[in-house]
Amino acid sequence: MSRARAALSRHFGYPDFRPAQAGVVRSVLTGQDTLAVLPTGAGKSVCFQVPAVVLGGLTLVVSPLISLMQDQVAAASARGIAAAALTSGLTAEEQAAVWDRIETGALRLLYLSPERLERTAGELRERGVRPALLAVDEAHCIAEWGHDFRPSYRRLGAARYRLGRPPVVALTGSATPAVRREITRSLGLPADRVAVHLFSFDRANLWFGVVSVNGRDRLDALLGLLRGDDRMAIVYAPTRGLTESIARAVATAGHRAAPYHAGLDRARRAAILDAFLDDRLDLVVATCAFGMGIDKPSVRLVVHWTLPPTPESYYQEAGRAGRDGEFARCVLLYHPRDAELHRRQLDVTFPPARTLEQAWADPAAMARLPANVRASAERLRSELRPQLGGVDWSPVRDRRRQAEDRIAAVEAYAAGRGCRRRALVGYFGERLDRCAGCDRCRAAPSTRGVPAPVVRRLNRLRQALGGRAGPWGGCLLEPAVLLQLARNPPATAAALADVPGVGPAIAERYGGLILGALERVPDGRVPAVEVMINTAYIRECILVPEKTRSIRDAISAGTSQYGMQTFDQSLWDLFQAGLVNYETALDNASNADDFKLRMQGISSTSDASKNAMQAAGFGGR
Ligand SMILES: [Zn+2]
Repeated sequence: MSRARAALSRHFGYPDFRPAQAGVVRSVLTGQDTLAVLPTGAGKSVCFQVPAVVLGGLTLVVSPLISLMQDQVAAASARGIAAAALTSGLTAEEQAAVWDRIETGALRLLYLSPERLERTAGELRERGVRPALLAVDEAHCIAEWGHDFRPSYRRLGAARYRLGRPPVVALTGSATPAVRREITRSLGLPADRVAVHLFSFDRANLWFGVVSVNGRDRLDALLGLLRGDDRMAIVYAPTRGLTESIARAVATAGHRAAPYHAGLDRARRAAILDAFLDDRLDLVVATCAFGMGIDKPSVRLVVHWTLPPTPESYYQEAGRAGRDGEFARCVLLYHPRDAELHRRQLDVTFPPARTLEQAWADPAAMARLPANVRASAERLRSELRPQLGGVDWSPVRDRRRQAEDRIAAVEAYAAGRGCRRRALVGYFGERLDRCAGCDRCRAAPSTRGVPAPVVRRLNRLRQALGGRAGPWGGCLLEPAVLLQLARNPPATAAALADVPGVGPAIAERYGGLILGALERVPDGRVPAVEVMINTAYIRECILVPEKTRSIRDAISAGTSQYGMQTFDQSLWDLFQAGLVNYETALDNASNADDFKLRMQGISSTSDASKNAMQAAGFGGR
């Protein structure tokens, strides 16, 4: 584990794993087959990327979407981990280059789709490559897609066998007990020998609600939601056409919006994603498949235009909100007829037995079927093999019933009278004692019953640490640790270091910032530059001119008077280098966000200034 921690600190810049990650990494490093169910935002990729570095050799990563693979390869490479993806989009030369890196042992992470893995497993073996680890990301896809759309997911166990049975780590952000069983079965893992790591699905910073609509007023409902202070939103819509028209309508209403779906070319998608990550767009309207690739910690609102087909997909997609640990809302727009579309789709995926038997017996009948039904008929023919006689319909009936149950469950969530969170986490087999916030309970998020001064300190602390997202996209400190600090603010950096969950490394690096947010200023010094990076404080500074002056004085007085301990060293370096033009920014900015945009070096897209700003705690990318 010490080598894993060293790798984490080297490649991700963090002194230690989150508790959820530590158990998974330990299990993977001991060579144990592992299933980890971590809620979105808990930092899944760290759980196989760090072991890949420590184990050496090649780690194969099975991932469902090319866009996800590209994102992860880019992120891993940026952190100095040798990564590549084998996809259909590569030219022959590019593929040869990837194989070259595999054979010379230069590559640590190789991303591929399950279909590609099936084809490549034999080739890897022929070339004498034995992977150190097989990681299956988004492993719930095995159950969701393995039967009907992507059968390669069902054959991962066989592919693994051909690879020489490397240890497996399967990771997912949502899995019911039944789905967990299906994952281990498909991977050929004996149930009693898999280390299962389960973490709570309840994310206290998310608020859940449903807005009933009458069909045509969905847009009004959406615009109403956007009128709140929830800038940075993702809207999920079922079709490409809808994402386009919603984005247009929302833009006409004055919001900075763009559609995001597979029909846009790669450059356009990258430009939209960049603009969203840089806060130059307020919202992205995405199709469900594509929304999976959006990884922005500070999304404040996720809206579903209509009922999703399963609670799994709802929770997964809604979970894109509030990954920085701050308050965020997840709202579903719902009309009682919304489920019909999904039920009709079931008749396409599982056509009636009589239709199938006729089509199988008579090529003319097959030809008369609509293309999507015909595709299902062909798929089920190769699965059920009617030519051998005596078709066993039970597996197909079971699957259809499971799909119906999922639709009913997500419908019950939308139409039910009880607590939304209880319904949602209950579906994943978890019991909830207390709701942290939903439209049924009308509970305030996570801070109910906490005295007002503590809530104020907590909010300041969250805002101060909000930009310092970890590799998992969450806040640097656990919610419980934040609350503990807000209740009993330590007086000194040394006392802060002793608080469980903080530790000396964080206290040393962020002590001034944390104590400043708690209004504990060590030795009576003014934490001058440091408060500048606390956006809440900046907002206050702009509204109160005397404070602005005091900051200017503090900065111009330099480090000697105030002591370096209270400054953020890297930000100070930026000031010294003239990279941050705070004076002009302060003079002209109308609010904190505007201020950030005007600070030279923050809105700039050059890598050097991005890295510098990230080092100073801005951005969180
Ligand atoms: Zn509730």
